[in-house]
Amino acid sequence: MKNLEQFKGMRILVLGLARSGYAASKILHDAGANVVVNDAAPEEGNEEAAALRLQGIRVICGGHPQGILDEGFDLIVKNPGIPYSNAVLVEALAKAIPVWTEIELTYRISEAPIIAITGSNGKTTTTTLLYHMLNIGQRQPLIAGNIGTVSCAVAEKATEDNIIVLEASSFQLMGTEKFCPKIAVWTNLYDAHLDYHGTSEAYALAKANVLKNQTQNEYVIYNADQPELQAYVAHAVAQKIPFSLLGKKDQGISADAEKIYWNGEPYVDRSIIKLPGMHNLENILAATAAAILSGCDKSAIENVLSSFTGVRHRMQFVTELKGRKFFNDSKATNTLATKSALAAFDVPTILIAGGLDRGHSFDELQPFMGNVKAVVTLGETAEKFGQFAASCGIDKIVHAGDMKNAVNLAYAFTAEEDIVLLSPACASWDQYPSFEIRGDQFIEAVMQLDR
Ligand code: ADP
Repeated sequence: MKNLEQFKGMRILVLGLARSGYAASKILHDAGANVVVNDAAPEEGNEEAAALRLQGIRVICGGHPQGILDEGFDLIVKNPGIPYSNAVLVEALAKAIPVWTEIELTYRISEAPIIAITGSNGKTTTTTLLYHMLNIGQRQPLIAGNIGTVSCAVAEKATEDNIIVLEASSFQLMGTEKFCPKIAVWTNLYDAHLDYHGTSEAYALAKANVLKNQTQNEYVIYNADQPELQAYVAHAVAQKIPFSLLGKKDQGISADAEKIYWNGEPYVDRSIIKLPGMHNLENILAATAAAILSGCDKSAIENVLSSFTGVRHRMQFVTELKGRKFFNDSKATNTLATKSALAAFDVPTILIAGGLDRGHSFDELQPFMGNVKAVVTLGETAEKFGQFAASCGIDKIVHAGDMKNAVNLAYAFTAEEDIVLLSPACASWDQYPSFEIRGDQFIEAVMQLDR
């Protein structure tokens, strides 16, 4: 039985009417709660608002009415994107009204155990790897969060035979109270989203919420090569499963140049792994540990390691053409991600980069440009990236107006065994509606090259 009784008769304000707000409102209304939905955006064209109203839910759009909290709510469920500086939330917290994000609701209603994956980078890749391992290992996984279906809608359908594999952002984790995943995975910790969290510490503490309610019956899998992350995990009560790339370790999961080790014993040979990059090896260690702890057999894990070539737009292998390989890393919207991508290859590389100008410098990429023999630039930062490439001693630099041209120019620079890598180090919005569309255009242009 789903634990939905707890919401019967409660007065609940759902703040924000995106996909998650819609799903949460419906679940809570069906559970017998008295739900009010409020969104600051105007209602025009908002089909979700109309659909909720049809079900008898009160919906207020176009602003937050003053005094809305005077109605006496018992709980607020907020969209993770709404900052805590929002006036309604400030007042709610002052009145000690609990404020949840949708993952708390997910936890409260789920019959299935949850594996929560958080970290600054690698969440989607780790989540996807783990999902495939569990799927082939017949553990009936359901994928939820940023890359899947809204997590509370997944939880509503899940049974105790399922495992929910949940990608959890720091924004989501801010709004948790009792949220307690069976396994927490913390991939890494870099400064990110400081505009939302204010300080690096606040950001790290938000992530650390993933383990705050865990007991000795749960596990935390974490990056043991990052001392700054370890400091947060040190207080965890859960069983600690470190992962490390720094050679064989007796505890947890580790890797040296040849093998992956589980508690110091050889587990699989690295030679079977298809996914390129040391950063992806971290994701592989984290996913493999979670799969082992979930009862997956080794053959399912090996199957995925020897076949998985990457999540779309994240170091995704596209094709090989006349001895040249093409990789789509359109999701690399900052220099950190492009650093990882460049570090993943040890062959001459033609890099396609550039995009939205956020005013940041590319200088930190400099130590990673050693294999780059030519650069094709795009977008607002085309000129700036070109200057940076020149400062690295690269002499083949061209600016391309669009992706088709960029791919043609890049291909013209290639020799056999080279790779062409789209890893822009910039967001896409200057030229494309999203990084996905930018990546799709790259793939399309590559597929149109003369075969
Ligand atoms: P997220 O979901 O956390 O944004 P993704 O799996 O989508 O992470 O990867 C986003 C980008 O971050 C990729 O393009 C890759 O270059 C980089 N990346 C992925 N995993 C890691 C990692 N473990 N450490 C550092 N960078 C990574």
